[in-house]
Amino acid sequence: MGMMQQYIEEAESALLHTYNRYQVVFDHGEGVRLYDIEGKEYLDFVSGIGVFALGYGVKRYNDAVKAQVDKLLHTSNYYYNVPAIEAAKAIKKASGMDRVFFTNSGAEAVEGALKTARKYAFLKDGRTDHEIIAMEHSFHGRTFGALSVTGTRKYRDPFEPMIGNIRFAQLNDIESVKACITDKTCAIIMETVQGEGGIHPATEEFLKEVRAICDEKDILLILDEIQCGMGRTGSYYAWQRYGVKPDVMTTAKALGCGVPVGAFLMTEKVGQASLVAGDHGTTYGGNPLGGAAICEVFKIFEEEKIPEHAAEVGSYLYEKLEEISASRDDIVEHRGIGLMQGLEFDHPVADIINKALDKGLVLINAGTNIIRFLPPLVIEKEHVDEMIKVLKECL
Ligand SMILES: *Cc1c(COP(=O)(O)O)cnc(C)c1O
Repeated sequence: MGMMQQYIEEAESALLHTYNRYQVVFDHGEGVRLYDIEGKEYLDFVSGIGVFALGYGVKRYNDAVKAQVDKLLHTSNYYYNVPAIEAAKAIKKASGMDRVFFTNSGAEAVEGALKTARKYAFLKDGRTDHEIIAMEHSFHGRTFGALSVTGTRKYRDPFEPMIGNIRFAQLNDIESVKACITDKTCAIIMETVQGEGGIHPATEEFLKEVRAICDEKDILLILDEIQCGMGRTGSYYAWQRYGVKPDVMTTAKALGCGVPVGAFLMTEKVGQASLVAGDHGTTYGGNPLGGAAICEVFKIFEEEKIPEHAAEVGSYLYEKLEEISASRDDIVEHRGIGLMQGLEFDHPVADIINKALDKGLVLINAGTNIIRFLPPLVIEKEHVDEMIKVLKECL
């Protein structure tokens, strides 16, 4: 039995089986390549589900994180720390939002966003039965609040009851949103580009109409940018492409580029009329280690123009996937923006993904029939060519 198979068996006897894992144990990474524990090289088109935007082994990022490890890892939120302050300034600058709360994960950021919306509405009318509108096929995380607004029924059903008072509308169908609105609606939450649900971008028209309804009725628009944010679509946050600004925004995944962090942000107006001291907290959120990672990520993004690069290589990837899509009858649709794209087939894609892995290409699905492309944002056109070549062999 190989070394890899032995570890896989140990994993399957010790870890709770909540994932059907691909049969590989990764050891280290360099640039846009991953290496397994037996030394085999892979081209990475998943980036740890949109986390490793900068690729692997980035010296200045690693040095910044290591320096903070030696200095101070944690203080608790009862004290101030410089990396968190600098990180808050950087994320405000990139997003144009006003107030930041740091978390440890995406789901935790969504929880905070939902609490913000309920508190904002509670302060207005004192009611305790406010409703939230979410989208079908959305994904917002696995904790109870985040799960309650996740549009895929099979994720929710075994864990009912959910937090309650959630209504589901169809993305890009404004009439379905209007049909859900009542005098109790306090928020509309959606991903600007749906990730797990199959790479479905919200249209500009839909976002603008939702924004207008929210303005008219003082409902908070929460945009989940956990997967589509941080430069992946060519701007720091996908909503910046549409000239529509959310009242509350969530971010995570590539925010730390490997160090587990997240955040929810809001406008000053919402910040002044929602959560106050005692309403919300976290032990680890906003710790100096996470702050140092976030600061270095934004420095690199800015100096190396990462969002611009993602836009450029993203259009190249779009062209290449369009060609494949046009040449095959079993591809139903090609969707996406920048370096967040998907190919929907009329059959399951697990075999294609396993074949690709065998040939040293890491791909992932989004739902049963969709191959999702989420490479590190630092990939070059030549890597796209290399990926396309292997993908064609696997089809
Ligand atoms: C991954 C993801 C989440 C959950 O983030 P975790 O860090 O896994 O909790 C929430 N929303 C979206 C859009 C995501 O892609």
